[in-house]
Amino acid sequence: MKKKIAVLPGDGIGTEVTKGAVDILKAAAERFGHEFEFEYGQIGGCAIDACGSPLPDETLALCKRSDAVLLGAVGGPKWDSNPPEMRPEKGLLAIRKHLNLFANLRPISFYASLSEASPLRTEIIEGADFLIVRELTGGLYFGKPSGRTVIDGEEAVVDTLQYHKYEMKRIIELAFQLAQKRKRKVTSVDKANVLESSRMWRETAEEVAAEYKDVTLEHMLVDNAAMQLIRNPKQFDVVVTENMFGDILSDEASVLTGSLGMLPSASISAGGPSLYEPIHGSAPDIAGQNKANPIASILSAASLLRNSFGLNEEAEAVELAVEKVLEEGFRTADLASGSKAVTTEEMVEEIKTALLGQEAISQIMGAYS
Ligand code: NAD
Repeated sequence: MKKKIAVLPGDGIGTEVTKGAVDILKAAAERFGHEFEFEYGQIGGCAIDACGSPLPDETLALCKRSDAVLLGAVGGPKWDSNPPEMRPEKGLLAIRKHLNLFANLRPISFYASLSEASPLRTEIIEGADFLIVRELTGGLYFGKPSGRTVIDGEEAVVDTLQYHKYEMKRIIELAFQLAQKRKRKVTSVDKANVLESSRMWRETAEEVAAEYKDVTLEHMLVDNAAMQLIRNPKQFDVVVTENMFGDILSDEASVLTGSLGMLPSASISAGGPSLYEPIHGSAPDIAGQNKANPIASILSAASLLRNSFGLNEEAEAVELAVEKVLEEGFRTADLASGSKAVTTEEMVEEIKTALLGQEAISQIMGAYS
């Protein structure tokens, strides 16, 4: 298979972990006989410095002519006092909007070898395996009007929560389709006891559920969902929710299985290239020290292989290589809890060896079968 991947490393550890993910994609291409072309672009703080925009036109054009986008992370103290339009995070919001990335998928999986890294007791978290599907291009983060104002002569502020029905329908449908490939349960999260938008969301979820009789739908209020994620995370399969609830719940869920450095995400496009990135930020506190955990970025690359290229076997091979390396006890500093840690580059090298090693093992097994 021949594919073109836009690589946007961004700022801070974004550059370090993305380099690792590209190395693993190259190894996967080598092992399975594919040809991936990588073309690099700028986004976030580095793009502001180089081009005066957090999402330069060249970067957007590069993404649009690619089959998928691999992103690192953006931001850092250098740009923290910039005006709103010149903040690195604006680049992320803009790319989501321009590529029509309407759905953010965050798988949360428990690794037995990392049970000590979870803040929950092992018996509560063990076996947890769920997927958060967050709406990404609507709701409070994009609604207009938004800004400071004066109401009845008093200083005031307005943010607008707006959704079209079709925006609700397409993401809820995606959640049901994903549930069909998993444990066939969708938990739709809203605040229907207070918000009209949530009542429409709930109504839409019921309408979609009628078309997917093999999947069970349950509704949960967002405050209860925040509690249930801690009390009993094993109850979930696919969780679907609007933009801001999803932002908060997915960050909460991300700490359940250990480090932020372990969690990938996929942002699915309605028509164009989809975008894959770790959920963590640019981690300025450890940037440039070869200390960052590259696994979230590597698992994002695996998700790219599966979701954009349909390469399931290749994606699974990368995921298995990560699992093997963790089982063997290799840990970056975020997971090492006092014991000896490997560097970012060493972790990538171990995963690469495990990935290419699987081939040698399967050849040996083949010779004896
Ligand atoms: P962060 O995710 O960058 O870091 C939070 C903590 O987790 C830090 O202690 C960091 O060292 C650690 N950490 C994160 N990723 C790690 C990894 N791969 N390996 C080891 N440790 C890791 O969040 P923050 O500190 O709140 O934000 C830093 C900057 O990143 C800010 O400018 C913020 O706006 C930006 N940010 C960007 C994104 C993104 O690009 N998608 C997401 C969140 C934050």
